[in-house]
Amino acid sequence: METIPHFINGSRVSDAERFGPVFNPATGEQEKQVALASASRTEEAIASARAALPAWRATSLAKRTNIFFRVREILNQRKPELAAILTSEHGKVLSDAEGEISRGLENIEFATGLSHMLKGERSEQVSSGIDVHSVRQPVGVVACITPFNFPAMVPLWMIGSALACGNTVLLKPSEKDPSAAIFIAEAFAEAGLPAGVLNVVQGDKEAVDVLLEHPDVKAVSFVGSTPIAQSIYKRAADHGKRVQALGGAKNHMVVLPDADLDMAADAAVSAAYGSAGERCMAVSVLVAVGNIADDLVQAISSRMAGLKIGPGTDPASQMGPLITAEHRDRVASYVAGAESEGATVVVDGRSQQFDSNGFFIGVSLVDHVKPGMRVYDDEIFGPVLSVVRVDTYSDAVRLVNENEFGNGTAIFTRDGGAARQFEFDVDAGMVGVNVPIPVPVGTFSFGGWKNSLFGDTHMYGPDSIRFYTRGKVVTTRWPDPSTSVIDLGFPQID
Ligand code: NAD
Repeated sequence: METIPHFINGSRVSDAERFGPVFNPATGEQEKQVALASASRTEEAIASARAALPAWRATSLAKRTNIFFRVREILNQRKPELAAILTSEHGKVLSDAEGEISRGLENIEFATGLSHMLKGERSEQVSSGIDVHSVRQPVGVVACITPFNFPAMVPLWMIGSALACGNTVLLKPSEKDPSAAIFIAEAFAEAGLPAGVLNVVQGDKEAVDVLLEHPDVKAVSFVGSTPIAQSIYKRAADHGKRVQALGGAKNHMVVLPDADLDMAADAAVSAAYGSAGERCMAVSVLVAVGNIADDLVQAISSRMAGLKIGPGTDPASQMGPLITAEHRDRVASYVAGAESEGATVVVDGRSQQFDSNGFFIGVSLVDHVKPGMRVYDDEIFGPVLSVVRVDTYSDAVRLVNENEFGNGTAIFTRDGGAARQFEFDVDAGMVGVNVPIPVPVGTFSFGGWKNSLFGDTHMYGPDSIRFYTRGKVVTTRWPDPSTSVIDLGFPQID
């Protein structure tokens, strides 16, 4: 059986004391195993990143930039190969996998502008004969810990800017679909990134525990579920690291009575069931305002019947399987419990049969959902769309704002004034106006509010430059030595 290795100091390392299973979710078969790093293997990788740091941070911005141009070419050329890896381990359909890679490459494109992004500031003559300038310098060794649902894009969110800023990196991908990280690290090596600058440590909690506590790791970027994000934030901060930890989500799509209902229904189906609902920006709650709910539920359920669910390798498939059998059963349990909580299951995805042992489940639509029901309160992370009916715009905003998560949200309306008010009122980090999945382009930053993000800075884009660098301010004077005197007073500006 193929073993997915670590990538440490420029080489694959496969030996391990423990291995984890890697399934093909479309067949349900374990096709590979992944080496799980011990504490000492993780320390070895940290040592490699630390050793590579002085030379990498001294590498000119021009040379760094060229590596990003080259890696972009390599990953663009090999997109179909990487997409096939994503589909075989994650299960998402090939076109979606290619889309994920393209969105990830935006962060490499952003990194090619690093010499602009790292420019400091300068003020001349702030006091008589005194100038001040600021520079931004790397923080050091950065740990990047990523989730299963975007095995290429989320690593690229982090490593593009982390490397551009002159840091060295330890990437700890999800153990459920770990091959993409190796593919990306080897593409960087081929593009000329020196050994040890980008290391991949495969593993689980044992490896993460070392990354959170080791004194040589200076910053931690994490994306995953809220309970883990919160604990990572606390533990890494306790050990003196800067941390950004992005958590889970429950994204609401508000549909006002004046919206085009066909367009809203198309958007809701696409955003709720794409990638089997395993996107942190998936729409999981549809908020129908006023008297449109019956028509909207009808429009959505009629579209659901036509969705083609099957292996991601079949070009006809629009949705693939879930990541594991356990996750599929957990998703099913929410649909199973919805009626007893007082909701109405309009379409029950559990009833769809598949002639495969893959981790498939059909798409579900649950109406008359309310806060307090499990199907509303929990992040399900599967192809289940809940409909909450409210009377007014204010009720809709209150619902979104009272939710513990605040990752993304969207409003569907033809009324520009209502959309502008929503943008002003709503407590979420990313807002779509007639855009159901408002993932910002790579020149802006990505991040939620409330329990969707622990930390101060969002990910990628301009915030990432702040996160992955430390500011330094230099005050300079070149006086005539003959004017020098002793003065014990605190320096005054004049
Ligand atoms: P997860 O929290 O289970 O795992 C994320 C990472 O943490 C993995 O690398 C995993 O190995 C590691 N990990 C898991 N348990 C750990 C523990 N006890 N101690 C230390 N490390 C641990 O998340 P997942 O299931 O891989 O991904 C799905 C979740 O990620 C969803 O909640 C989704 O909303 C969230 N997500 C959020 C965003 C965002 O931008 N906010 C983006 C993608 C995914």
